[in-house]
Amino acid sequence: MRRSLSAACAARSSSGTRSRTLASSCEASFGVADPSAGQPRLLTLDGFEPFEAGGQVVDTVQVCVYNDDPAFAPAGHSVIQASLPMPYEWWATRGTRYGAEKEAIAERLLATLQKPFPSLRSSLRMTDVATPLTFWTMARSWRGAYEGWMPSAEGILGHVKKTLAGLDHFYMAGQWVEPGGGVPIALMSGRQVMQLICKGDFRPG
Ligand SMILES: Cc1cc2nc3c(=O)[nH]c(=O)nc-3n(C[C@H](O)[C@H](O)[C@H](O)COP(=O)(O)OP(=O)(O)OC[C@H]3O[C@@H](n4cnc5c(N)ncnc54)[C@H](O)[C@@H]3O)c2cc1C
Repeated sequence: MRRSLSAACAARSSSGTRSRTLASSCEASFGVADPSAGQPRLLTLDGFEPFEAGGQVVDTVQVCVYNDDPAFAPAGHSVIQASLPMPYEWWATRGTRYGAEKEAIAERLLATLQKPFPSLRSSLRMTDVATPLTFWTMARSWRGAYEGWMPSAEGILGHVKKTLAGLDHFYMAGQWVEPGGGVPIALMSGRQVMQLICKGDFRPG
């Protein structure tokens, strides 16, 4: 090892990756005493009265209906989850309003989902709102980024090195070195690190 990890990280963070973009979201999950049979697994809602949330105007909501696996909810129940892109900064600066903002967004989404899911309120049994801060608190996802760097034109073509200059025998794998992130991509990057190590040891990868 030729220099310390913190020195190598500092050099790396001042050399370009900060210009990449990342994204996070707010996930409002509604557990209902209804199997939601026949509902599509995924749908995009629009055409409703836009509302403000997370410091931005919301006119589209992605909805995921967890109705196709008995492990998702007790028998006869399902989970309807609404997803909104949300900046980490907004949630991180709510202070004592944080809990109230979560309740407000859940209420707003319940109203928005009422049309496609008319029995939502009457069958509602639990509500859970996860914010970018939740991803940080629960999973240590930096700034709540759920998939590391976003696959922007720059990010998807750009290459993120898996090594740090001056730090021998140190490799990085996971969502932060593969723009686009996600579990399959993180696994793939681990495989590539093994190939780099094998190459360094003059072994077939
Ligand atoms: C809500 C949500 C939904 C998602 N849905 C999907 C999906 O449907 N499909 C999909 O493919 N991907 C999904 N993703 C993305 C996917 O989970 C990540 O891209 C993937 O888990 C990244 O793997 P990783 O190994 O790079 O990092 P992680 O899985 O985040 O692992 C990093 C680990 O390092 C630990 N850590 C962090 N800092 C330190 C430290 N200083 N010291 C010690 N340990 C530390 C963390 O606690 C964590 O255990 C989702 C992510 C989120 C947040």
